[in-house]
Amino acid sequence: MPAPTRARLTIDLDALAANYRTLCRTAEGAEVAAVVKSDGYGLGAAPVARRLLREGARSFFVARIEEGEALRAAVGGREADIYVLDGLTAGAGPRLAAARLTPVLNTVPQVEAAVAFAAGSGRPLPCALHVDTGMNRQGLTVDEAGAIAGAPGRLARLDVGLVMSHLGSAHDAADPRNGEQLARFRDVRALFPEARASFANSGGTFLGPDYRFDMVRPGISLYGGGPEERPDAAIVAVARLEAPVLDLRRIAAGEHLGYGSGLVMPRPTRVAILGAGYSDGVIRAARHGGYAWLAGARRRLLAVTMDLTIVELDEAAVQVGEMAELLGPNALLDDLAQAAGTVAHEVLVRLSLRAERAYL
Ligand code: PLP
Repeated sequence: MPAPTRARLTIDLDALAANYRTLCRTAEGAEVAAVVKSDGYGLGAAPVARRLLREGARSFFVARIEEGEALRAAVGGREADIYVLDGLTAGAGPRLAAARLTPVLNTVPQVEAAVAFAAGSGRPLPCALHVDTGMNRQGLTVDEAGAIAGAPGRLARLDVGLVMSHLGSAHDAADPRNGEQLARFRDVRALFPEARASFANSGGTFLGPDYRFDMVRPGISLYGGGPEERPDAAIVAVARLEAPVLDLRRIAAGEHLGYGSGLVMPRPTRVAILGAGYSDGVIRAARHGGYAWLAGARRRLLAVTMDLTIVELDEAAVQVGEMAELLGPNALLDDLAQAAGTVAHEVLVRLSLRAERAYL
């Protein structure tokens, strides 16, 4: 068989299922919804959702209406509640209804549009309300939520099944903003006593029972990332990006490596050239401190180009054609993200670029 020349992305759905079960145990009775926006964080919303449905998941969050329509088509008539975080954008009412998608209303105009749509259809519109409790990104203000709760005529048109908010610092358990947001969310929740409540993302799920309410909404921990400070949480890698060794070279001291003149070898260095680059999702910025796993050890990344990555080797026995792991159980997602100065979420969504993929 010819030696492999391309990057390979393997998505382990058993590992995804194991993370889901870990989150269910941690959530202690709160429903665990799955955030599958951006095509399941780049790993495939349809296979991810189908597998999680088998594990007992019932609620899924996407960002865009198109994502919701595609997911509804993928899961068919199965019992799945699909929430659209973009909410009720202009003219989207019929599309949401046709695909049985639940809008997460996040502005006053969206609430007005939902009320008008419901009046036209003659039925209360199932929806969720997103209230901003301090992240300052998306959602009704607490005052706006109060005004909506105080207008029973408007509320009668809406079937508000869920009231939710999103934490800005849940990855850092010591950040006082978590507690401040929680206090505001409790007030908001009290405004809508009939609705279920959802507050926690992955990090929030691990912050403790106060943060979990009726439903938690993890994304990244399902896919094997974070929260970094909870290694005991037994979250396991789901995505494995591997690339073949295409060549082995010896670089003399004083030679330049790769593009530009920045990287000059201080000593003779043996390197491996790997058949994956930033087109396959290896983030270029990770060359500062990132590593690949090859021949049983971590190998420092020296350069990341579009199709090729160069790693430093010692005298380890390595063959051309052997696979190196750039991301996976031995080359950790959170380590790569940290080296690249980004978050695990961004590392994952970039994997969708080119690598050949297979599902386990
Ligand atoms: N809830 C909302 C509203 C989000 O935007 C996201 C993702 O950014 C999540 C939950 C899931 O967050 P995480 O992937 O950090 O668990």
